[in-house]
Amino acid sequence: MSTISHYIDGEVVQSTSNRTQPVFNPATGQAISELQLGNAKDLATAVAAAKREFPAWSQMPPLRRARILDKFKIILWDRMDELAEAITLEHGKTFDDAKGEVTRGLEVVEFATSAPSFLKSDFSENVGTGVDTYNVRQALGVVAGITPFNFPAMVPMWMFPVALACGNTFVLKPSERDPSPSLLIAQWLKEAGLPDGVFNVVQGDKEVVDAILEHPDVKAVSFVGSTPIAKYIYVTGITNGKRVQALGGAKNHAVIMPDADMDMAANAIMGAAYGSAGERCMAISVVVPVGEGTGDAIVSALKPKVEALSVGPGMDAESEMGPLVTKQAQERVLSYIDAGETSGADVVVDGRNFNQAKQGYEDGYYVGGTLLDNVTPDMSVYRDEIFGPVLSVVRRDTFADAVDLIHGHQYANGTAIFTRDGDAARNFAQNIEVGMVGINVPIPVPMAFHSFGGWKASIFGDHAMHGMEGVRFYTRIKTTTTRWPAKLDAEFKMPTLG
Ligand code: NAD
Repeated sequence: MSTISHYIDGEVVQSTSNRTQPVFNPATGQAISELQLGNAKDLATAVAAAKREFPAWSQMPPLRRARILDKFKIILWDRMDELAEAITLEHGKTFDDAKGEVTRGLEVVEFATSAPSFLKSDFSENVGTGVDTYNVRQALGVVAGITPFNFPAMVPMWMFPVALACGNTFVLKPSERDPSPSLLIAQWLKEAGLPDGVFNVVQGDKEVVDAILEHPDVKAVSFVGSTPIAKYIYVTGITNGKRVQALGGAKNHAVIMPDADMDMAANAIMGAAYGSAGERCMAISVVVPVGEGTGDAIVSALKPKVEALSVGPGMDAESEMGPLVTKQAQERVLSYIDAGETSGADVVVDGRNFNQAKQGYEDGYYVGGTLLDNVTPDMSVYRDEIFGPVLSVVRRDTFADAVDLIHGHQYANGTAIFTRDGDAARNFAQNIEVGMVGINVPIPVPMAFHSFGGWKASIFGDHAMHGMEGVRFYTRIKTTTTRWPAKLDAEFKMPTLG
């Protein structure tokens, strides 16, 4: 069995801790490698390398930094299949989905290569006689990223391309469930010409996370993961004087208005609810049909499609949906379906007894697509983020009731409305208290040059990820005022304000 370890200062480095944990292939249920879990010492070694490199990297002209990222982007295009295969092996999602993930990450790299433009600043001439003022955006120093299992390549790429382009050096702590993609990324960055020590990977769990939060040389922390951990990272990080952006969990509602094209809406919802087995923070997990008849129409449109979902190993070209990431995730999802049924939801399509017949994959962590109707807001299937292929239907009488339902939920990451009515769509876009909104678009994930982030319990901190929000997070403004009088005043005068 292979061993997965850190990448520090330009090379693969063994951990100084002897704690390890197996990494599984979710499609087969077999352990495929042993992950070395790092400790505070390993983290300190990585931070020291990143700190050493910061002066040279931050002072390198942004155009030269951008050229290195541009080479990295070309490597990513050329070796997309290799990275996607590494994702599918440890995460379980389908190969096509993994390639989609790499593409979305790559787009952030593309955005980051425009650093010379986005780091341009402003200049005010003659703020006083012979006095000029200008702002510059300067890098923070060593910054860290702590990432979740569900996008082991894309979420790190929401962070480090912008951080590096702005002149910071980086330490990544990937998810312990699927740690390999981060090592490919580190090696390819080096190949693209990134100096050793500018980007480092420290594998591990809470021990490394706490070491990041406590290390005085880590100036900022970007986190993506579940809400309780996001809150912990935010509170601990800011208490220790760091800048923190921490993105948390989600429960995304799709409102179906009576005038919507039901087939179009059902097709869109299928991909949004069951793609990546529902393990997406932008997955639609609740459908809210509005008005008499809309619920029956959307449930009838969805039912045969959910029943027909092809569930299997991610590398199998016929699979539309892969397994869940771990045995624990599988058991958790199954227990939520049980709880939904016990509390009165109608199980329209039941994914609990799904059997993977394909030889060699019988022990994979599969759950079939599940559709629950007549779910109510008090049920745990509605309140909690399930993070699996379970779609709940919560019927509402009016548009206002649907909006109230969404506003009553603690999460506010993404939402969508399906309608042909411009009035309703505009009202929804303007008034809904959710960070990312789709009008007839089921997964409104902003492109790399916009920014990604929810509201309420889906984010802690003031800046969303990538785009100009990423630039703002990874830089701080310095304002310089200069005076170059033609002839220096020899006479002393007491300065006055204003
Ligand atoms: P998680 O919170 O369990 O883990 C995220 C990271 O935190 C991992 O690197 C993990 O090692 C670390 N961690 C876990 N427990 C910790 C603890 N007690 N103390 C310190 N660090 C700890 O999340 P996950 O299961 O890997 O990912 C799924 C979650 O991520 C879902 O809630 C999903 O909605 C969320 N997510 C959110 C977004 C977003 O943009 N809002 C994007 C992707 C995923």
